[in-house]
Order: sequence, then C-alpha cells, then structure tokens
Amino acid sequence: MKDYLVRGIVQSKNCRVFACQTTQLLEDARLKHGLWPTASAALGRMMSATLMMGAMNKNHEKMTVTINGGGPIGTMLATTNSDGKIKAFVANPEVHYTYNDTGKLAVGVAVGREGQLQVIKDMGLKEPFIGTVPLQSGEIGDDFSYYFMVSEQVPSVVSVGVLVNDTNEVLSSGGFIIQLLPDATDEDIEYIEDKMKDFPPVSSLIHEGKTPEDILKMIFGDVEILDSQDLFFECDCSKDKMKKALITVGKDELQAMIDEDHGCEMRCQFCNEKYQFSEEELHEIIKEID
Ligand SMILES: [Zn+2]
Repeated sequence: MKDYLVRGIVQSKNCRVFACQTTQLLEDARLKHGLWPTASAALGRMMSATLMMGAMNKNHEKMTVTINGGGPIGTMLATTNSDGKIKAFVANPEVHYTYNDTGKLAVGVAVGREGQLQVIKDMGLKEPFIGTVPLQSGEIGDDFSYYFMVSEQVPSVVSVGVLVNDTNEVLSSGGFIIQLLPDATDEDIEYIEDKMKDFPPVSSLIHEGKTPEDILKMIFGDVEILDSQDLFFECDCSKDKMKKALITVGKDELQAMIDEDHGCEMRCQFCNEKYQFSEEELHEIIKEID
C-alpha cells in the first residue's frame, strides 16, 4: 500500500488536522541504513512528524529537523522540501532497546532527552527561520508537540508510531497531528483530550489497515479533507554533487587520496549510496580547481 498524508479541517471543533501513513518509506529507509528496531521506530516517528510539518508549509519550503538527545542513537536528521519526499539518517542505526515493563521499543532511551529539537525552514529569505526547543522525553511525539507550542504558539497533539516484526521489518508507521485554531473553545479542547485518553496506538491502527482518513474520522466523526500527498523516501544525491563536495576538500587532500588510495569512495549519509572516484577522476577534479 502506498504512503500518503492528508490535510484537513474540522470546523465543528475548530482545529486543523494532518494524518499520514509512512510504512513503506520507513521500510525503504531501514533497508538503506540497516536500522535496528528501536532506530527504525525513532526515525519513523521523526519522518512522520516532519512530513506532516512539511504539509503545513504552503510554499514547498525546504525544511530540516534535527534531534540530538545525547542518547546512543546520536544525531537524527530529516530533510524535506515539503513535496512529499523525505531523506533522513541517524548517526548510529544499530541501536535497540525495549522497556522492561511493556516490551515496547524504548525510543526515549535510544534518543535521550538531554538535548534539543531544531527546525530550520528555508523560506528563500536571507536568513532561514530557526526554531529550537529542549527535548521533553525523546519519544519524538511529545517533543514535536512541545515545539509547536513553544516555537509556533500552536497547541497541538502529535501522535506518531511504528510497529516492527520479529525479523525487524517495518509492519506499520504513521501518525496524526491535531492543531487548535485560534477560535477553539474550552469544549473543543476537552473533546480532544477526552478522545485521546483511551485512543489506540496509531501504529496498531495502521497495522489493522486503517487509513489516515479512517483515523481522523475515529477521532472527530466528520472531517473535511482538503488535500492529500503521496510520500516517498527519496534522496537527491548524485555523482555530480559528490564531485562538488570533493572540490571543497582541496587539492592537498585530493592529492593524498591519489597517492595513498589511488582513488576514493564517497558515501551519501542520507541514503548510503556509494560513489567511486578513480585516480583519473581525482586528477580531473584537481585540474578543475586550478
Ligand atoms: Zn543520497
């Protein structure tokens, strides 16, 4: 089943809503990066939230989210042009922790909570918008929710989840975001809080076959869907881009690569694609610098 997100509005409750299914794109990311289950869960939650945040931008702005909580997973980074395509990585994909009491994937342990979540939006102006908040739990959903409240002054419910099977394959991934509009009343807030109390985990719902639209209808009954967007894990790296990166390395370093290794291999950190440069190609690059 293809991944997509929907954006909608609930007039009767004065809120706007987003929901997405990201199972396939997380499985793609898992295979490219060799993610262990807790790393899959952390990156999947982050990509779902980032893609939904991207859908809030009307002008296809480039958006980069970085989370660094001091935990064993290290820095996590996701980038999207708000066009449904996302690329992302974690510094250490081989992390796996579960909570003893519930057996659930311990994302907060892997991510840590001594750090921050940062959002950079490039709106084509001179200075990009940068919003940074301290992490709350490292469980990702709470952290995005806190970001929306503090950095954008929008009270939001953020629910993101991932389910992984015994052989580490991604069974389901996705989430939803509810944001209060300025006209929201105390009754609207109570309604949402009440609904969220015993709401099933979003990863279970997606695994059962519920669509993003179904999940929003479970919460609100009636939702006006404004648009939908297909989602992909897709990297825009190329040999040409790698070459440009090599130019910045400088002549001395390139000469050392020729002398010591007779070429070099560049690896894209977003998708793990490898690019080989022969001795001759490195000589060409040195000529271009001169
Ligand atoms: Zn790449």
